[in-house]
Amino acid sequence: MMTFDPLGDGISRVEHLDHMGDDLRVVNAARISFDRESHLECDDTGQWLQDQDEKLIGFLAENEHVSPFFHPQICLRITMPSFLAHQWWRSTVGVSRSEVYRRYVVAEPQCYQPPHWRLRAQQPKAGSGTGELGAERQAALSVEVERLYRDIRTLYGQMIQEGVAPELAQAVLPQATYTRWIETGSLHYFVRACGLHTGPMAQRELRLYAEAVSEIVGGLFPVSWKALTRHTAA
Ligand SMILES: Cc1cc2nc3c(=O)[nH]c(=O)nc-3n(C[C@H](O)[C@H](O)[C@H](O)COP(=O)(O)OP(=O)(O)OC[C@H]3O[C@@H](n4cnc5c(N)ncnc54)[C@H](O)[C@@H]3O)c2cc1C
Repeated sequence: MMTFDPLGDGISRVEHLDHMGDDLRVVNAARISFDRESHLECDDTGQWLQDQDEKLIGFLAENEHVSPFFHPQICLRITMPSFLAHQWWRSTVGVSRSEVYRRYVVAEPQCYQPPHWRLRAQQPKAGSGTGELGAERQAALSVEVERLYRDIRTLYGQMIQEGVAPELAQAVLPQATYTRWIETGSLHYFVRACGLHTGPMAQRELRLYAEAVSEIVGGLFPVSWKALTRHTAA
Protein backbone atom coordinates (compact mmCIF):
# COMPACT_ATOMS: atom_id res chain seq x y z
CA MET A 1 0.00 0.00 0.00
CA MET A 2 1.45 3.37 -1.02
CA THR A 3 1.50 5.90 1.83
CA PHE A 4 2.74 9.50 2.09
CA ASP A 5 3.17 11.90 5.02
CA PRO A 6 2.75 15.17 3.12
CA LEU A 7 3.24 17.55 6.06
CA GLY A 8 6.12 15.51 7.47
CA ASP A 9 4.82 15.49 11.06
CA GLY A 10 4.15 11.77 11.35
CA ILE A 11 0.37 12.36 11.48
CA SER A 12 -0.62 13.62 8.04
CA ARG A 13 -1.36 10.79 5.60
CA VAL A 14 -2.40 9.98 2.07
CA GLU A 15 -2.89 6.23 1.69
CA HIS A 16 -3.83 4.24 -1.39
CA LEU A 17 -6.47 1.73 -0.33
CA ASP A 18 -7.71 0.37 -3.62
CA HIS A 19 -8.33 1.13 -7.27
CA MET A 20 -10.27 -0.18 -10.22
CA GLY A 21 -9.01 -0.25 -13.81
CA ASP A 22 -5.89 0.95 -15.59
CA ASP A 23 -5.03 2.93 -18.71
CA LEU A 24 -6.48 0.11 -20.82
CA ARG A 25 -9.87 0.61 -19.13
CA VAL A 26 -9.88 4.19 -20.46
CA VAL A 27 -9.04 2.96 -23.96
CA ASN A 28 -11.75 0.31 -23.95
CA ALA A 29 -14.36 2.70 -22.52
CA ALA A 30 -13.76 4.73 -25.69
CA ARG A 31 -13.43 1.78 -28.10
CA ILE A 32 -16.86 0.42 -27.06
CA SER A 33 -18.33 3.14 -29.34
CA PHE A 34 -17.34 0.94 -32.30
CA ASP A 35 -17.91 -2.27 -30.31
CA ARG A 36 -14.16 -2.91 -30.32
CA GLU A 37 -11.67 -3.85 -27.60
CA SER A 38 -7.92 -3.39 -27.29
CA HIS A 39 -5.43 -5.63 -25.49
CA LEU A 40 -2.05 -4.96 -23.96
CA GLU A 41 1.15 -5.83 -25.81
CA CYS A 42 3.26 -8.18 -23.75
CA ASP A 43 6.54 -10.10 -23.76
CA ASP A 44 8.76 -11.68 -21.07
CA THR A 45 9.60 -8.26 -19.65
CA GLY A 46 6.05 -7.02 -19.04
CA GLN A 47 2.92 -5.49 -20.57
CA TRP A 48 2.23 -2.11 -22.11
CA LEU A 49 -0.33 -0.19 -24.14
CA GLN A 50 -0.16 -0.35 -27.91
CA ASP A 51 0.98 2.88 -29.59
CA GLN A 52 -2.44 3.44 -31.14
CA ASP A 53 -4.03 3.20 -27.68
CA GLU A 54 -1.63 5.73 -26.17
CA LYS A 55 -2.50 8.05 -29.05
CA LEU A 56 -6.21 7.50 -28.42
CA ILE A 57 -5.80 8.57 -24.77
CA GLY A 58 -3.98 11.72 -25.91
CA PHE A 59 -6.78 12.45 -28.41
CA LEU A 60 -9.49 11.98 -25.76
CA ALA A 61 -7.75 14.30 -23.30
CA GLU A 62 -6.96 16.96 -25.90
CA ASN A 63 -10.52 17.04 -27.23
CA GLU A 64 -12.20 16.88 -23.81
CA HIS A 65 -13.91 13.55 -24.47
CA VAL A 66 -13.76 13.03 -20.73
CA SER A 67 -16.28 10.26 -20.00
CA PRO A 68 -13.77 7.38 -20.57
CA PHE A 69 -11.71 8.90 -17.72
CA PHE A 70 -14.66 8.54 -15.32
CA HIS A 71 -14.50 4.72 -15.36
CA PRO A 72 -11.28 4.13 -13.38
CA GLN A 73 -11.91 4.66 -9.67
CA ILE A 74 -9.34 5.20 -6.93
CA CYS A 75 -9.92 4.92 -3.20
CA LEU A 76 -7.67 6.86 -0.79
CA ARG A 77 -7.66 7.41 2.97
CA ILE A 78 -6.58 10.95 3.82
CA THR A 79 -5.61 12.39 7.22
CA MET A 80 -5.56 16.19 7.04
CA PRO A 81 -6.00 19.18 9.37
CA SER A 82 -9.58 20.49 9.22
CA PHE A 83 -8.63 23.95 7.93
CA LEU A 84 -7.12 22.32 4.82
CA ALA A 85 -9.86 19.70 4.47
CA HIS A 86 -12.46 22.46 4.07
CA GLN A 87 -10.64 23.61 0.95
CA TRP A 88 -10.02 20.09 -0.40
CA TRP A 89 -13.71 19.20 -0.06
CA ARG A 90 -14.75 22.08 -2.32
CA SER A 91 -14.16 19.72 -5.26
CA THR A 92 -17.40 17.80 -5.24
CA VAL A 93 -18.05 16.28 -8.65
CA GLY A 94 -17.00 12.68 -9.30
CA VAL A 95 -16.07 11.84 -5.70
CA SER A 96 -17.67 10.38 -2.60
CA ARG A 97 -16.32 10.94 0.94
CA SER A 98 -16.96 9.29 4.31
CA GLU A 99 -15.39 10.97 7.34
CA VAL A 100 -14.64 10.11 10.97
CA TYR A 101 -17.45 11.66 13.03
CA ARG A 102 -16.43 13.36 16.24
CA ARG A 103 -20.04 13.01 17.30
CA TYR A 104 -19.10 9.39 18.03
CA VAL A 105 -15.30 9.36 18.35
CA VAL A 106 -13.65 10.82 21.46
CA ALA A 107 -9.99 10.02 20.71
CA GLU A 108 -7.55 12.68 21.89
CA PRO A 109 -7.43 15.33 19.16
CA GLN A 110 -4.18 15.58 17.19
CA CYS A 111 -3.33 19.08 15.98
CA TYR A 112 -1.07 20.33 13.19
CA GLN A 113 1.67 22.70 14.25
CA PRO A 114 3.16 24.52 11.23
CA PRO A 115 6.96 24.25 11.42
CA HIS A 116 7.29 27.81 10.02
CA TRP A 117 4.92 30.75 10.37
CA ARG A 118 4.87 32.36 6.91
CA LEU A 119 3.96 36.02 6.54
CA ARG A 120 0.97 37.33 4.64
CA ALA A 121 1.56 37.98 0.92
CA GLN A 122 1.41 41.46 -0.64
CA GLN A 123 -1.18 40.07 -3.04
CA PRO A 124 -4.01 38.92 -0.72
CA LYS A 125 -5.19 36.05 -2.95
CA ALA A 126 -1.73 34.45 -2.84
CA GLY A 127 -2.30 33.76 0.88
CA SER A 128 1.30 33.83 2.02
CA GLY A 129 4.61 35.01 0.62
CA THR A 130 8.16 33.78 1.04
CA GLY A 131 8.83 35.78 4.24
CA GLU A 132 8.59 34.25 7.71
CA LEU A 133 8.50 35.59 11.25
CA GLY A 134 11.93 36.13 12.78
CA ALA A 135 13.52 33.01 14.28
CA GLU A 136 13.07 34.17 17.89
CA ARG A 137 9.39 34.99 17.45
CA GLN A 138 8.84 31.75 15.47
CA ALA A 139 10.16 29.72 18.39
CA ALA A 140 8.14 31.67 20.98
CA LEU A 141 4.94 31.45 18.94
CA SER A 142 5.35 27.70 18.45
CA VAL A 143 5.63 27.28 22.24
CA GLU A 144 2.48 29.41 22.75
CA VAL A 145 0.56 27.44 20.16
CA GLU A 146 1.62 24.11 21.64
CA ARG A 147 0.48 25.35 25.07
CA LEU A 148 -2.86 26.40 23.59
CA TYR A 149 -3.34 22.97 21.97
CA ARG A 150 -2.42 21.27 25.25
CA ASP A 151 -4.94 23.40 27.20
CA ILE A 152 -7.65 22.63 24.66
CA ARG A 153 -6.88 18.89 24.80
CA THR A 154 -7.14 19.07 28.60
CA LEU A 155 -10.45 20.96 28.52
CA TYR A 156 -11.86 18.59 25.87
CA GLY A 157 -10.81 15.58 27.96
CA GLN A 158 -12.48 17.08 31.06
CA MET A 159 -15.70 17.75 29.17
CA ILE A 160 -15.81 14.15 27.94
CA GLN A 161 -15.08 12.89 31.49
CA GLU A 162 -17.96 15.03 32.81
CA GLY A 163 -20.32 13.41 30.32
CA VAL A 164 -20.66 16.26 27.81
CA ALA A 165 -21.85 14.87 24.48
CA PRO A 166 -18.92 14.50 22.07
CA GLU A 167 -21.00 16.17 19.36
CA LEU A 168 -20.93 19.38 21.45
CA ALA A 169 -17.51 18.99 23.11
CA GLN A 170 -15.90 18.99 19.64
CA ALA A 171 -16.95 22.65 19.31
CA VAL A 172 -13.89 23.69 21.34
CA LEU A 173 -11.38 21.96 19.03
CA PRO A 174 -9.20 24.16 16.81
CA GLN A 175 -9.22 24.07 13.01
CA ALA A 176 -5.73 22.55 13.19
CA THR A 177 -7.32 19.32 14.48
CA TYR A 178 -6.72 16.40 12.14
CA THR A 179 -9.65 14.68 10.54
CA ARG A 180 -9.65 11.49 8.46
CA TRP A 181 -11.82 10.34 5.59
CA ILE A 182 -12.00 7.86 2.78
CA GLU A 183 -12.56 9.24 -0.67
CA THR A 184 -13.35 7.29 -3.80
CA GLY A 185 -13.25 9.25 -7.00
CA SER A 186 -12.82 8.90 -10.72
CA LEU A 187 -9.47 9.39 -12.39
CA HIS A 188 -10.89 12.59 -13.91
CA TYR A 189 -11.86 13.95 -10.47
CA PHE A 190 -8.34 13.38 -9.12
CA VAL A 191 -6.72 15.11 -12.09
CA ARG A 192 -9.04 18.07 -11.63
CA ALA A 193 -8.58 18.35 -7.84
CA CYS A 194 -4.79 17.98 -8.06
CA GLY A 195 -4.68 20.56 -10.86
CA LEU A 196 -6.49 23.08 -8.65
CA HIS A 197 -4.41 22.40 -5.57
CA THR A 198 -1.00 22.35 -7.23
CA GLY A 199 -1.67 25.68 -8.96
CA PRO A 200 0.35 28.81 -8.16
CA MET A 201 -2.42 30.26 -5.94
CA ALA A 202 -2.95 27.07 -3.91
CA GLN A 203 -1.95 26.97 -0.24
CA ARG A 204 1.47 25.37 0.19
CA GLU A 205 0.25 22.68 2.60
CA LEU A 206 -2.57 21.65 0.23
CA ARG A 207 -0.06 21.55 -2.62
CA LEU A 208 1.93 18.97 -0.63
CA TYR A 209 -1.19 16.83 -0.31
CA ALA A 210 -2.03 17.24 -4.01
CA GLU A 211 1.52 16.20 -4.92
CA ALA A 212 1.19 13.04 -2.82
CA VAL A 213 -2.15 12.21 -4.45
CA SER A 214 -0.61 12.86 -7.89
CA GLU A 215 2.23 10.44 -7.10
CA ILE A 216 -0.25 7.71 -6.23
CA VAL A 217 -2.85 8.20 -8.95
CA GLY A 218 -0.34 9.25 -11.62
CA GLY A 219 1.63 6.08 -10.90
CA LEU A 220 -1.46 3.89 -11.35
CA PHE A 221 -2.60 5.53 -14.63
CA PRO A 222 0.62 6.95 -16.12
CA VAL A 223 -0.53 7.46 -19.72
CA SER A 224 -3.91 8.98 -18.85
CA TRP A 225 -2.44 11.13 -16.09
CA LYS A 226 0.17 12.61 -18.40
CA ALA A 227 -2.38 13.30 -21.15
CA LEU A 228 -4.99 14.78 -18.81
CA THR A 229 -2.60 16.99 -16.85
CA ARG A 230 -1.38 18.42 -20.15
CA HIS A 231 -4.88 19.28 -21.36
CA THR A 232 -7.23 19.69 -18.36
CA ALA A 233 -7.85 23.29 -17.36
CA ALA A 234 -7.71 23.61 -13.56
C1 LIG B 1 -6.62 28.84 -5.12
C2 LIG B 1 -8.08 28.68 -4.79
C3 LIG B 1 -8.76 29.67 -4.09
C4 LIG B 1 -10.11 29.51 -3.76
N1 LIG B 1 -10.74 30.49 -3.05
C5 LIG B 1 -12.03 30.31 -2.68
C6 LIG B 1 -12.71 31.28 -1.86
O1 LIG B 1 -12.15 32.30 -1.53
N2 LIG B 1 -13.97 31.02 -1.47
C7 LIG B 1 -14.66 29.90 -1.88
O2 LIG B 1 -15.81 29.73 -1.51
N3 LIG B 1 -14.05 28.99 -2.65
C8 LIG B 1 -12.77 29.15 -3.06
N4 LIG B 1 -12.16 28.19 -3.81
C9 LIG B 1 -12.93 27.02 -4.24
C10 LIG B 1 -13.37 27.13 -5.71
O3 LIG B 1 -14.25 28.21 -5.90
C11 LIG B 1 -14.06 25.83 -6.18
O4 LIG B 1 -15.23 25.65 -5.44
C12 LIG B 1 -13.19 24.63 -5.95
O5 LIG B 1 -11.92 24.87 -6.46
C13 LIG B 1 -13.78 23.39 -6.59
O6 LIG B 1 -13.86 23.59 -7.99
P1 LIG B 1 -14.31 22.46 -8.98
O7 LIG B 1 -14.51 23.13 -10.29
O8 LIG B 1 -13.38 21.29 -8.92
O9 LIG B 1 -15.71 22.03 -8.33
P2 LIG B 1 -16.59 20.75 -8.41
O10 LIG B 1 -17.64 20.96 -7.39
O11 LIG B 1 -15.82 19.49 -8.31
O12 LIG B 1 -17.25 20.86 -9.84
C14 LIG B 1 -16.60 20.44 -11.04
C15 LIG B 1 -17.22 21.17 -12.19
O13 LIG B 1 -18.58 20.74 -12.35
C16 LIG B 1 -19.38 21.85 -12.73
N5 LIG B 1 -20.39 22.11 -11.68
C17 LIG B 1 -20.34 21.79 -10.37
N6 LIG B 1 -21.44 22.17 -9.73
C18 LIG B 1 -22.20 22.78 -10.65
C19 LIG B 1 -23.48 23.43 -10.59
N7 LIG B 1 -24.19 23.52 -9.47
N8 LIG B 1 -23.96 23.98 -11.73
C20 LIG B 1 -23.26 23.89 -12.88
N9 LIG B 1 -22.05 23.30 -13.01
C21 LIG B 1 -21.54 22.75 -11.89
C22 LIG B 1 -18.45 23.02 -12.93
O14 LIG B 1 -17.98 23.07 -14.26
C23 LIG B 1 -17.29 22.68 -12.02
O15 LIG B 1 -16.09 23.31 -12.38
C24 LIG B 1 -10.81 28.33 -4.16
C25 LIG B 1 -10.13 27.34 -4.89
C26 LIG B 1 -8.78 27.50 -5.20
C27 LIG B 1 -8.08 26.39 -5.97
